[in-house]
Formats: sequence, structure tokens, C-alpha cells
Amino acid sequence: MSNAMPARLDAAAAVSAPRLWQLLMDLARHGATAKGGVNRQALSDADVAARRHMISWGRERGYGVVIDEIGNIFLRREGRDNDLAPVLTGSHLDTQPTGGKFDGAYGVAAGMEMLAAFDDAGMSTRRPIEVASWTNEEGCRFFPGCIGSGVHTGVYPLGKMLTVADRDGIVLGDVLAAALQDLGMVSSKTPPRKPHCYVEAHIEQGPLLEMAGREVGIVTGFQGGCRMKVEVVGEEAHAGTTPRVARRDALFSAVSIVEALKLLTADNEDALRFTIGRADSTRQRII
Ligand SMILES: [Zn+2]
Repeated sequence: MSNAMPARLDAAAAVSAPRLWQLLMDLARHGATAKGGVNRQALSDADVAARRHMISWGRERGYGVVIDEIGNIFLRREGRDNDLAPVLTGSHLDTQPTGGKFDGAYGVAAGMEMLAAFDDAGMSTRRPIEVASWTNEEGCRFFPGCIGSGVHTGVYPLGKMLTVADRDGIVLGDVLAAALQDLGMVSSKTPPRKPHCYVEAHIEQGPLLEMAGREVGIVTGFQGGCRMKVEVVGEEAHAGTTPRVARRDALFSAVSIVEALKLLTADNEDALRFTIGRADSTRQRII
């Protein structure tokens, strides 16, 4: 008996933490900031460099590499029955302007490490396994977020998403075409196959696991979001001489609104979260 271990344990044992760490550090060089974080906004030069890293890593190891029409990258390790829908994992390589080394990159790198671990363990899988990097997950350069996964799942139409422009008027479709040329890739016109299942590893975005001293958790639900832009309009008046009864102070009203909403959304379960993300004051004369 040369090997009594069940195959799944062999694959887990072949996961190399130093190799995974090295891959994360290599990816973090693309768009590295002085503060130790990463600024790698979607389809920026740094993002294209990180994409090149992922693609060459996949090619060097003999995996299939495909880019779809919205720029999602898929690395594919064939299975024993390649007519079956793949098991899909992945995340995103783009970051916020003040992003960290691990948000997104960990989910992509963990998938890549898993492919390498299967190889090292000499294991085959019944289904093919694919590792995806989704385009513009963060939504800070191109709005909305999750464009790549949204197009992949049919939530967003491809044509419309290719015409989305960033703040400087640069159109996603144009910058993607330039990136593909830079990468020496042609996008695949074949609609991606529906995966058998999808699993994504992601760093914790809240403090709960850390507070509980746990290393890993499994997502059991998603938080819905609703964003509103509220304008509170007041009226200019002399600061010293206008009596209270004649004042229409916009900031005072805004503070009252915020306070009322804070009380209204304070549920006992702490399930509802209320945030004022931004407050601007503009001085304009209403005629
Ligand atoms: Zn993320």
C-alpha cells in the first residue's frame, strides 16, 4: 500500500502557504502604494500588469487561459470529463484607490494555489476547475461595481457595460481593447459556460471573525443595500440679526434628519446598518 491517505487529504496537504504568500506579494507589487497598500483600479496599467502576472502564471503551468468579452480571465485545469460544467472559484484583482493587498487578490490567488496543489498531489478531478478574475468588481473607476461577474451571470448587458465611462471620459470597451492588445490576447466570443457551482474565498470585510478569534467563516447570507442622495435646501440670512423664527438653516435640518434616521434604523438585531457616506455643502442661490 503506497498511499493510504484519502485523495482529498493529499490535495489539502499539497497546499503551500509560502507559495500562496509569495503569489500574493507578487500581485501586490502591481499598484503598490507608499503606505503598504495597493491602488490597482480596474484596467489601469497596474491592473493590466496583475492580469499579465495571472495569465503567464497559468500558461507556465499549462492551464487553459481564456478572456471573455468583458475582460474576465479564466484559468482552467481540465478534469476527467471535460463536457461537464466546471467548478468555478475566483475573485477580483482590481482594488479601491486605497485598497489593501488581499481584498480580491486573495480569492484569485487561493484558486491558483489550489490548481497548483492538485498538480503537486498528482490528482485529477472529475470536473474541470476554473479560476476567475472578474473585471471591475470594486466599481470605483467604472460604475456600477461587479461589471465582470454581472455580465457573466447575465445581470448586466455586455453592450451597455462596454460603453460605461470613467470620470475622465475613458470608455471601458476602449481601455479593455487596449489592455487585450497589450496582453496579446483575443477575447473569447463564446458565452462562458454556466458553472456547476461557484465558491469565492474573500478576506473578511467586517471585524466579526477577528473579534471572535476565528480564522475562517462561511457566508450564509448577503446584505442588501440601498443608496440615496438627499438634498437639504435652506435659505441664506444674516447670521446675527435674523431671529430664530425666520431662519431656514440647512445644516440644522440635516443634523435633525440624520439623528431621526439613526434612531429609526437602530434595530435590536443590529441587522440594519445606516451610514452617511458623504456630506457636502454647496452655496447656491435659489431664484
Ligand atoms: Zn473584494
